[in-house]
Amino acid sequence: MKLDDCRVDGSKRFVLAKCPTSAKMDKSLKKEYLKKMAANTQLIAELQEKLYAEKREGVIIAIQAMDAGGKDSAIKHVLTGVNPQGISVANFKAPTKTELAHDYLWRVVQSLPERGMIGIFNRSHYEDVMVVRAKNMRGGYSMPDRFFKGSDKAFFDARYRQIRDFEAYLYENGYRMIKIFLNLSMEEQTKRMISRIDEPKKNWKFSLGDLDNRAIWDEYAQAHEKAIAATSTPEAPWYVIPADQKWFARWLISEAIVKVLKDCKPKFPTVSEEDLAAMLEAREKLVNGQI
Ligand code: ATP
Ligand code: MG
Repeated sequence: MKLDDCRVDGSKRFVLAKCPTSAKMDKSLKKEYLKKMAANTQLIAELQEKLYAEKREGVIIAIQAMDAGGKDSAIKHVLTGVNPQGISVANFKAPTKTELAHDYLWRVVQSLPERGMIGIFNRSHYEDVMVVRAKNMRGGYSMPDRFFKGSDKAFFDARYRQIRDFEAYLYENGYRMIKIFLNLSMEEQTKRMISRIDEPKKNWKFSLGDLDNRAIWDEYAQAHEKAIAATSTPEAPWYVIPADQKWFARWLISEAIVKVLKDCKPKFPTVSEEDLAAMLEAREKLVNGQI
């Protein structure tokens, strides 16, 4: 399985149930993929340095997943070795009162990275069409119903369009988006939740509240499918990544980042002849102890 197999760009009908939750890679390949991953990490670090120096394009990596999908550890592993100065991480949790009092993209706009940076969105504006749809929470927003007339479909269709427009706006303003959906099976989630209970070091990750989400797994799946289908475009594609094997999922994520960074073609800024001449003059003075 390759990155392209996970890419969803709107050219075909998207059916989540057809996307594997595991690539079923043989365990014996793990070592090889860890090496490939390390090579990608190195490449990401090199490309990111240029991106940062040039400050022409920004990259936004939005990661969505069910609980225990591996978002946090993927972020940690894939971006190891990248200059922390060039990275920002935004975590999108249940909206605060102040956030709810604004339009849903308000908090997202405030978390956008500067061009030259890689901004990681640990959850994102997609929560506003995923969890909000799965849990039927749209009543939580105090706003007039004049456009939607009580219709959930109209409400979410409008949001999908707004998100497409927002991402097109970002693209036209020098940003690339990498949208990752870690596609986890319920069985694997069960295992990971049990290990969060069994292993003291992981206890802090366990949340009783996460169990409730398992009862509405299908509602989540439907909300994920609809959102991904409606917001996949060639400029802002989704990558639906089989998440049951963490080591393979991380390699795929690193592939997606390498691809986008390469597409940015970042270059170290070059100095004009004039500036170069001034630098050489300064060098001479430094060498001669004149300054
Ligand atoms: P995570 O669950 O991302 O690993 P966490 O456990 O530290 O991080 P939580 O307190 O669980 O953080 O916050 C994330 C929760 O917030 C998720 O259940 C998510 O669905 C919810 N959330 C995020 N954005 C929204 C939103 N716009 N509307 C409603 N709920 C949201
Ligand atoms: Mg949580």
